[in-house]
Amino acid sequence: MKDYCLRATAANGHIRAFAATTRHLADEAAKIHGTTPVASAALGRLLTATAIMGLMAGNDDDLITVVIKGDGPIGGALATSDGLGRVRGYVHNPKGDIAARPDGKLNVGGAIGAGHITVIKDLGLKEPYVGTLALVSGEVAEDVAGYFAFSEQMPSIVSLGVLVERDHSIKQAGGFLLQLMPGFDEALIDVLEAKMANFPAITVLLEQGKTPEDVLDMLLSDFGYEIAERSPLEFYCNCDRGRVTGALVAMGAQELGQIIKEDGKAEVSCHFCNKRYVFERDELTEILENSM
Ligand SMILES: [Zn+2]
Repeated sequence: MKDYCLRATAANGHIRAFAATTRHLADEAAKIHGTTPVASAALGRLLTATAIMGLMAGNDDDLITVVIKGDGPIGGALATSDGLGRVRGYVHNPKGDIAARPDGKLNVGGAIGAGHITVIKDLGLKEPYVGTLALVSGEVAEDVAGYFAFSEQMPSIVSLGVLVERDHSIKQAGGFLLQLMPGFDEALIDVLEAKMANFPAITVLLEQGKTPEDVLDMLLSDFGYEIAERSPLEFYCNCDRGRVTGALVAMGAQELGQIIKEDGKAEVSCHFCNKRYVFERDELTEILENSM
């Protein structure tokens, strides 16, 4: 099953819903960054939420960035997504680790620790929108739900999950998000909360072979729903030599001159995809001359 996300509306437009399967992109991210299983789970959850939020923004070139910073062993993670389901991200300390929880589950909340979630929405306006909130639990789903409830006044149910194999590959990953739209009937909250109380984890459903279509049907069949859109999702990094050159220029002439003098070349790795860009002396000298 390729990675994709469905968008649906229900209850006469008072509920909007997304359900996604993200195993491939979570696996690619884990392989690129060589993450520990708990870091893979944190990153996979954040990539899934960010991909959904990118689709939610509405326009192809909208850019959503979600930053989680915590005092736990992985220190947090960052993911960014456009409106086309192209998402990328990294963990601050990919080798960070922590013992599993007593129930045997990966302790994502402990790995992230206490801190903040920041959402940056670049919707092509003059200034990006930035909202920051204290983390609820560091488990990512609750933190994203908290962000929507408090920063955007949108009551939301968020479920995210990543199942990591013994060989550290990603066996299942995905998530769903339900949001109550303005003008909703208060009674909907109780009905949804009752439904969620016994709702299986997303990874359990995916392990059973359920698709995002099945998950939406389980969630929304009582409310009369319609699937509006199906979007492919992928791990995609748009770094290239030109952007890295821009980053070198931004370092300033003095520092660039020092690199040329001392090292004779520069090696820059992309945070998101770990691609390495090597600049030899001649090229660096040219960049330096052009920047002055
Ligand atoms: Zn890259």
